[in-house]
Amino acid sequence: MSAPEFDLLVIGGGIHGAGVAQAAAASGRKTLLLEARAPAAGTSSRSSKLIHGGLRYLESLEFGLVRESLTERQILLKIAPHLVHLVDFHIPIYKQTTRRPWQIRAGLSLYALLANFRTSPRFERLKRSAFADLDGLKTEGLQAVYRYSDGQTDDAALVRAVLHSAESLGATLRHPAEVLSATRSRRSYLVRYRADDQEHEVRTSTLVNAAGPWVEHVRRRITPTPEGRTIDLVAGTHLELSGTLKKGIYYTEAPSDQRAVFTMPWKGHILLGTTERIHTGDPAKIAPTTEEQDYLLDPYAHHFPDTPQVLSAFAGLRVLPRAKTDAFHRSRETLFFHDDPHIPRYVGIYGGKLTAYRATAQRVIAQLAAALPVRPHLADTATLSLE
Ligand SMILES: Cc1cc2nc3c(=O)[nH]c(=O)nc-3n(C[C@H](O)[C@H](O)[C@H](O)COP(=O)(O)OP(=O)(O)OC[C@H]3O[C@@H](n4cnc5c(N)ncnc54)[C@H](O)[C@@H]3O)c2cc1C
Repeated sequence: MSAPEFDLLVIGGGIHGAGVAQAAAASGRKTLLLEARAPAAGTSSRSSKLIHGGLRYLESLEFGLVRESLTERQILLKIAPHLVHLVDFHIPIYKQTTRRPWQIRAGLSLYALLANFRTSPRFERLKRSAFADLDGLKTEGLQAVYRYSDGQTDDAALVRAVLHSAESLGATLRHPAEVLSATRSRRSYLVRYRADDQEHEVRTSTLVNAAGPWVEHVRRRITPTPEGRTIDLVAGTHLELSGTLKKGIYYTEAPSDQRAVFTMPWKGHILLGTTERIHTGDPAKIAPTTEEQDYLLDPYAHHFPDTPQVLSAFAGLRVLPRAKTDAFHRSRETLFFHDDPHIPRYVGIYGGKLTAYRATAQRVIAQLAAALPVRPHLADTATLSLE
């Protein structure tokens, strides 16, 4: 059998695949990334584009996740200031809002604590005289507005920057290149993929399944089939609206079910999201529905006086472990599955956050360390600037 040409092969060119390719290349490993369509063609261009700890995850006591994401936010603000920037977030509290001012204050205090009080300025409760200056936010029944800072990015541009970094560290990237099968032998995987209308074969010491919503499709193409997890694909829609926001992001409550809905400035327009509904069938067929459009326009009409035009809409898919609870209340922790509990040569990534992609990638490399050859380290992704 021929020696593996690559130390690590990544399937998928979303943020996780890009992050793993960058981390592997930074650790000196010979790396190949295969993407079936184009970089960021999947969920990684359809997110809410926030680089954040996730204030609402404090309610589900996911402190570890929030702390890690806040640490990663801080790193990204340093290594990619042109891609990740702090924005003012506003939380309006009306008479009928479920979460009361003291709860928001407690949540924001804990959030600042988990961020080690690193972002500046800290949160504040706005004076009533400032209410009139909030992009037309309705003031009838408005009791309080809290303001704090969190991060915003261009998700697809972030993926491209991480891929560019991986390539400049020596990784090879191919797209469109669809992985058809992978077969394990004792010390490697033989991977078949289609590119340029031809089938190709390549041998790799380790394999990472970063196929996002296709993670289970890809897992079933591997022999022997590694362990996985029954998942739900949860669709999230965003609407792009006419109009602009000058003061930042508004973190509002949907009147119908009290879910969080963000109203955000985005490329000269307004981005409104998101929804959560179970999607079955082909992940490539995901599309926004008219019910989702109505659901999102309802909180907008509750909070803002104008009737904007819907310019476009897009939907992405979250990977969440199947459970009886509704999607909004399910854990957002990233799960990893392996082909061997002792010396894994395969890792499947399930779920995860755009924000924490770098930490997730570090974890994947650590999990594969015993099967990877030792090579001279090239760079530290926590300090390496993204171009
Ligand atoms: C609506 C929504 C909003 C979100 N908002 C945020 C947010 O604001 N902040 C945040 O931190 N996180 C957010 N997330 C989470 C985050 O966007 C996702 O966790 C992340 O983008 C997933 O990236 P991924 O690389 O795992 O998957 P994807 O980006 O979907 O990439 C998977 C890639 O694999 C490729 N692929 C599939 N099959 C094959 C094959 N056989 N061969 C080769 N390639 C293949 C696909 O073409 C695709 O490009 C949000 C998620 C959703 C759904």
